Amino acid sequence: MKAAVSAVALALSLAACTTAAADQPVTSAAAPPAPAAGTKAPATAEAAQEFVSRAEKELAELNVIQQRADWVNATYITDDTDALAAHFGALNTELRVRLATEAARYAEVPGLSSDTKRKLDMLRGSLTLPAPSTSGAAAELSQITTRLQSTYGKGKGTLRGQPISGSDIEAAMGTNRNPAELKEMWTSWHTNVGTPMRADYARMVEIANQGAKELGYADVGALWRSKYDMPPDEFAATTDKLWGQVKPLYDQLHCYTRARLNAKYGDAVQPKSGPIRADLLGNMWAQEWGNIYEIVAPKGAGDIGYDLTSLLKQKKYTPEKIVKTGEQFFTSLGFAPLPQSFWERSMITKPADREVVCHASAWDVNNLDDIRIKMCTKVNADDFVTVHHELGHNYYQRAYNRQPFLYLDSANDGFHEAIGDAIALSVTPDYLVQIGLLDKSKVPSADKDIGLLLNQAMDKVAFLPFGLLVDRWRWGVFNGEITPSNYNRAWTDLRRQYQGITPPVERTEANFDPGAKYHIPGNTPYTRYFLARILQFQFYKAACDQAGWKGPLHRCSFYGNKEVGRRLNAMLEMGASKPWPDALEAFTGTREMSGEAMIEYFRPLMSWLQEQNKGRQCGW
Ligand SMILES: [Zn+2]
Repeated sequence: MKAAVSAVALALSLAACTTAAADQPVTSAAAPPAPAAGTKAPATAEAAQEFVSRAEKELAELNVIQQRADWVNATYITDDTDALAAHFGALNTELRVRLATEAARYAEVPGLSSDTKRKLDMLRGSLTLPAPSTSGAAAELSQITTRLQSTYGKGKGTLRGQPISGSDIEAAMGTNRNPAELKEMWTSWHTNVGTPMRADYARMVEIANQGAKELGYADVGALWRSKYDMPPDEFAATTDKLWGQVKPLYDQLHCYTRARLNAKYGDAVQPKSGPIRADLLGNMWAQEWGNIYEIVAPKGAGDIGYDLTSLLKQKKYTPEKIVKTGEQFFTSLGFAPLPQSFWERSMITKPADREVVCHASAWDVNNLDDIRIKMCTKVNADDFVTVHHELGHNYYQRAYNRQPFLYLDSANDGFHEAIGDAIALSVTPDYLVQIGLLDKSKVPSADKDIGLLLNQAMDKVAFLPFGLLVDRWRWGVFNGEITPSNYNRAWTDLRRQYQGITPPVERTEANFDPGAKYHIPGNTPYTRYFLARILQFQFYKAACDQAGWKGPLHRCSFYGNKEVGRRLNAMLEMGASKPWPDALEAFTGTREMSGEAMIEYFRPLMSWLQEQNKGRQCGW
């Protein structure tokens, strides 16, 4: 998780607090966006360039003070800091709306430089859900999105007939192994949370589509897909191609997992064929399956031979020492040490005396070198990996800090998370030996790898079809292929088509199951998570190739390799200044995203799964 300067994240997280402020600039900026006739300044290439410079200056100024307010709010939650954060958030939304409308006027002006064109597109597309200029529309949209988010936030399911909150039910889905109780939790959550959102969601789609059209997009889905440096349809085709590359691995994992669930629960709960019951996979949305690893773990291979948490405790690591170790990973690649202010200003452990947001995040508060992390770090394996991930964001932010404001971001929205995750993948036994945590004689033999890989695949591979279908559904909703009369049917069908799962009970069009997933009422685009899962393996493999690694990919360590650091930096320092294929090429030498590295990483697991699945009828 990072605190991005990305307008998407900002505009979105603020939707809940901007009712009063957001509508005003929209109605006052009601001049038709295109054609340019009727606007005050003549729409020339020079005027466009001037507008862009002014926009960047205004955004940069507001952004720094807003980040300060957000930081204080996240590390010291009070009514006052909530109000401060909401105040600057509202100002930011107001500014973004004004700039998007003005940018649209210049979209088709002849003679634009490529930089000006790129920045105009960024400004125009910076709102996730644009309101149209129609009187009252912005206020209505803001009320609806606020209501959707609050319905989700207050949502409750039931367990054994008793109400249970969102975070508790999520945890219980991971540990409960009683099929009747799992079914009760799944059904109550989806029904209670999703169903009341249906009418609001349909109205929201109508309004936001109008807004997108005014800005020159076919619909909101096309606006979202426009951020990938290619025509919207071509981007959709690219994600299809990536899915095609990794699907055979998913199919084997699905087949094996279904058989293990059948062995545990019997035919009446989980049949040997057909889709998997959605509530049995250890997660409310069946999006990551790591919580049921113990059900699928191969005998003996579940134990990898060492336990990172106990190693950290034995060696007397503190949270600060874990962060120092993460820093050392980057300095070993040739990156500069973290600034002194990082150590003074970061929140590394949970303060005893106040409420904070513990969810890990990485910040660059002044967009220069005021980088920080915010974590409630504990001395365990998970947080050791998370620290490496978060510092990946910090080093990315620092690498592109000389770019103009609108380019202070990753090459596309999948890149930032993928960098953090690629670094986290590097926490291999070899790396632990290199930093003196693991004794060389304790490095697990290759026969332990299946457990390790299966454990990872249950999260990373299992996630892929879900990561794809959330926006498949929304793209269909926004372009009208999916209508309110088949919202739920289409969702259930996509879940079955891509994930091979099915609800534990019959669903109807009275329900609105998509609403039971946070990112739908929260209006967060989701394809970025799919891309990040794919790209992290591509980045990791590129680093391993550059380091001359010859063993199995999942065992590689490129710790200490300055050449990898140099190539990595060449990509990171570009920020969002060039189309993402340029950035990808700078580090990996290829201009295409590819699922092949992920396949290579899991190759030993793939063979093992095929062996286990012999004689089984896979698919659904
Ligand atoms: Zn992250």
